[in-house]
Amino acid sequence: MKRQSEHAISPTRSEDYPEWYQQVIRASDLAERSSVRGCMVIKPWGYALWENIVRKLDGMFKSTGVKNAYFPLFIPLSFLEKEAEHVEGFAKECAVVTHHRLEKSPEGGLVPKGELQEPLVVRPTSETIIGDSFSRWISSYRDLPMLINQWGNVVRWEMRTRIFLRTSEFLWQEGHTVHATKEEAVERTKMMLDIYAKLAEDYLAMPVVKGRKTPSERFPGAVDTLSIEAMMQDRKALQAGTSHFLGQNFAKASEIKFQSAKETEEYAWTTSWGASTRLIGGIIMTHGDDNGIILPPRIASSHVVLLPILRKGSDQTSVMSYTESLAKELQAVSYDDSKIHVEIDDRQIGGARGWEWIKKGIPLRVEIGPRDIAQDSVSVGRRDKDLRERVSMKRSQFVAEITRLLDDIQNNLYKRALEFKKTHTVEIVSKNQFYEFFTPINQNKHEIHGGFALSAWCGSDRCEEKIKEDLSVTIRCIPLDAQDEKGDCIACGKPNSQQVVYAKAY
Ligand SMILES: [Zn+2]
Repeated sequence: MKRQSEHAISPTRSEDYPEWYQQVIRASDLAERSSVRGCMVIKPWGYALWENIVRKLDGMFKSTGVKNAYFPLFIPLSFLEKEAEHVEGFAKECAVVTHHRLEKSPEGGLVPKGELQEPLVVRPTSETIIGDSFSRWISSYRDLPMLINQWGNVVRWEMRTRIFLRTSEFLWQEGHTVHATKEEAVERTKMMLDIYAKLAEDYLAMPVVKGRKTPSERFPGAVDTLSIEAMMQDRKALQAGTSHFLGQNFAKASEIKFQSAKETEEYAWTTSWGASTRLIGGIIMTHGDDNGIILPPRIASSHVVLLPILRKGSDQTSVMSYTESLAKELQAVSYDDSKIHVEIDDRQIGGARGWEWIKKGIPLRVEIGPRDIAQDSVSVGRRDKDLRERVSMKRSQFVAEITRLLDDIQNNLYKRALEFKKTHTVEIVSKNQFYEFFTPINQNKHEIHGGFALSAWCGSDRCEEKIKEDLSVTIRCIPLDAQDEKGDCIACGKPNSQQVVYAKAY
């Protein structure tokens, strides 16, 4: 084992946080950059994490009556143009298909030919293409509510990309619902935000603030955007899920109309809501330490790795059969909505083997050597504790207690993250203090600053813009649970202003 002063990840978080993030991803084997600019390759260890997120979210969606469907990847340009704010919001990051075949040029290379009559946009989001189907599926109030979700990918041509946080293509789900009344649509918007918050807190062990976006931060075309915001360890905010009340804007754009019970024809009320592979970036930055990622057990790619010690001259066969029978026993244990996932790593590569699993963030590491077997015990290490700390347990006790151990790790990670968020969320009323709070502590090495500021905002775009220009700080949200805290606007001093969450953001 390495000495305590050394870390598996270089640089450490405090030395260079952005670079630490890249190195954690590399060391954990979650994903890598692809040869396609701005796009990522999600590797099996990362994809397993995504599959778990999908399973949890999908179950929660369905429990509220949502059904899955699938719509085209391509959106006719004319569809996108139907909602003016919407197209303006996404225009700068659209990938557009203009041709449908390749031909050999005289020089020998291939060139696009067969220009399309109407260009197709690779979906940045699907309100308009799904709205087109809805307009045909819905004719009466009896067809409502319509509750549809799509699992898929979208493309937003980003100029500066970072794996999981901002990539040109990413995986996500987008839910789209249609309602007969405004109240019902508003209620659905809030319901889906609560599901995202539950996923974040109960599964990802990532505490969040639920809130409402200011008009300038709203989804293009939405009447109201709700979001969950989490604090990363560099104290920046990560928007981890959004839910939009779209009013009748998209219903009017796509002609989603229905005949009411009173036999009048009315435009419907719609919502949309999404969460993406960005959540994986959130897990990394909420729980990772200077030895790599730490996976919350309820969402982990796998729960426990068994590391048999196969020394030359010892009875390797009995160590392996002991390991395999323990694996079988563990795999039969129920955990959460599934079973315990077990890895066996029998490579004999010395200490490097244990470190690989530490960097991959697996919750439990179990060493099994001839001496342990003689006592029918195993040596257990937890990823959330000091890595030198190992506990020897009777095999039967370990099997009986593994779910308790995993729950304990899960709770510990959540408590740690909650404590961190509380410590770095500060109510600020003085403008000077506010500016100081967001000034990086050490400009040369990294950008770590104060965190989340609870300060007042008068509601004007100008004040919001001023703070953004001066400090690159934005209003993350107006918390839904905000007491009626009022104060002087931090930018202009106007009294009786609403308290909001200001932060730097990903
Ligand atoms: Zn103001």
